[in-house]
Amino acid sequence: MTYEPVIGLEIHAQLKTKTKMFCGSLNDPDETHPNVHVCPVCMGHPGTLPVPNKKAIESVVKVGLALSCEIAKRSKFDRKNYFYPDLPKGYQISQYDMPLCERGTLDVLGKKVRITRIHLEEDTGRLVHNKLGSSFVDFNRAGVPLMELVTEPDIRNAEEAVAFAKKLQTILQYLDVSEANLEKGQMRCEVNISMRKPEGEFGTKVEIKNINSFSAVRDAIAYEIKRQSAALAKGEKIVQETRGWDENKKATVSQRLKESAHDYRYFPEPDLSELVLGGEEGAPEETVIDVEKIRASLPELPDQKKARFQKEFSLSEKETEVLASDKYTASFFEHVVSELDAEREIDKALVKLAVNYLNTDLRKLINETGTPISEMLVSAENFAELVGLLHEGKITSSAGKMVLEEMFRTGKDPSNIIEEKGLAQVSDIAELEKTVLEIIAAHPKVVTDYKAGKQNALQFLLGQLMAKTKGKANPETSAEILKKLLS
Ligand code: ADP
Ligand code: MG
Repeated sequence: MTYEPVIGLEIHAQLKTKTKMFCGSLNDPDETHPNVHVCPVCMGHPGTLPVPNKKAIESVVKVGLALSCEIAKRSKFDRKNYFYPDLPKGYQISQYDMPLCERGTLDVLGKKVRITRIHLEEDTGRLVHNKLGSSFVDFNRAGVPLMELVTEPDIRNAEEAVAFAKKLQTILQYLDVSEANLEKGQMRCEVNISMRKPEGEFGTKVEIKNINSFSAVRDAIAYEIKRQSAALAKGEKIVQETRGWDENKKATVSQRLKESAHDYRYFPEPDLSELVLGGEEGAPEETVIDVEKIRASLPELPDQKKARFQKEFSLSEKETEVLASDKYTASFFEHVVSELDAEREIDKALVKLAVNYLNTDLRKLINETGTPISEMLVSAENFAELVGLLHEGKITSSAGKMVLEEMFRTGKDPSNIIEEKGLAQVSDIAELEKTVLEIIAAHPKVVTDYKAGKQNALQFLLGQLMAKTKGKANPETSAEILKKLLS
């Protein structure tokens, strides 16, 4: 009997705001000193009052609109009560029955995954454990705005789960609401997974936490599919529980049996007013969120951008996939195109050339050095100039690669590099003929081979010419001259 996985995701993302969710302490994910961004509110001192961060609420509404959710007319915060050392108040302010957004969708790999809800809550502090068995608490993160998105159990395999998480990450970055870096814990994925007989009733689910990368999403799902299938095959029952992903063991380990909503004794947060979305007369200013204004401010999203690139520049699905894969690559590409456009009559071949260099040679340098495209030294102006020079045949493609490497290393502009290194393409016939004659004189044996009909002898001589001219010789012209002088 084979079983089919049923998967639903719960994804948290830290929102990019200046201050925390309910107080004026800074929200600084890069702070390295513990407990510096804290105040009586986020430390849970008695008698303090929370004040909601409007920017955080607007960010969640933005995400909701981008994912075709229904935005609540009214929404409220609730207390989720539990004890843990990283939670000074003894409760987390979250949203229970009136979340900001409900019933959305996200298309992944040609299928619609339904989104149950997106709500807003506050992050907890962080426990730091040392090797001697002591634990420390850092409250810098306590009270940082956190959105939580929950999907319906519509996902059926690891590929879809990873594609969903990646696409959501891209959208959060495009919307500029979160950096959504998994390694930094700015985005966290929890996987709910059960197995069922094909098309049968859903089985008992297990929740997996502590997943810190996209590959861990894939590995944890693969592991659970095996573990649960094996248990079911032996006639065992799956226990509903929370398991943790252990990256070293490459296994999930049981953490605790599943708690349910009533364990948290949720109740409405008495210190915060209900939120009014869509403008109700007389509601207090800090509780009113203008949904239509947010809708009007939404930027172009990855799918729309991809479609526009395909149409406008006759690019393929695959080419635009990479270009729109993150907002920095997309904006770099658009900047390059506008530079090319300003300089000359722009055509499809020129854009295609730019895309090829961006998706292969530049991408290779980025990947090899681990430099994010947003931080690299190659400016769009310089990149466009290089593409123009290649297009006009001022340099050969092998010289182009060298120039790009140098641009990437130093940030210099291509014409300077070409001049410094003497890389301008040699098409001057007289100059080429002189070099070719030298090469012919230096390799009499190869010349004899060529005359005896060995075709690769010509390749060898061409290679010598390229080496001697440091890749600057125009390949077509060189081949013609060689053949002429050898005959
Ligand atoms: P709980 O009450 O245990 O929190 P929810 O119904 O709120 O469960 O669902 C939490 C997450 O688990 C959602 O992402 C949902 O899609 C997923 N889920 C629910 N039932 C199943 C199931 N049988 N198998 C896999 N995932 C499931
Ligand atoms: Mg739930």
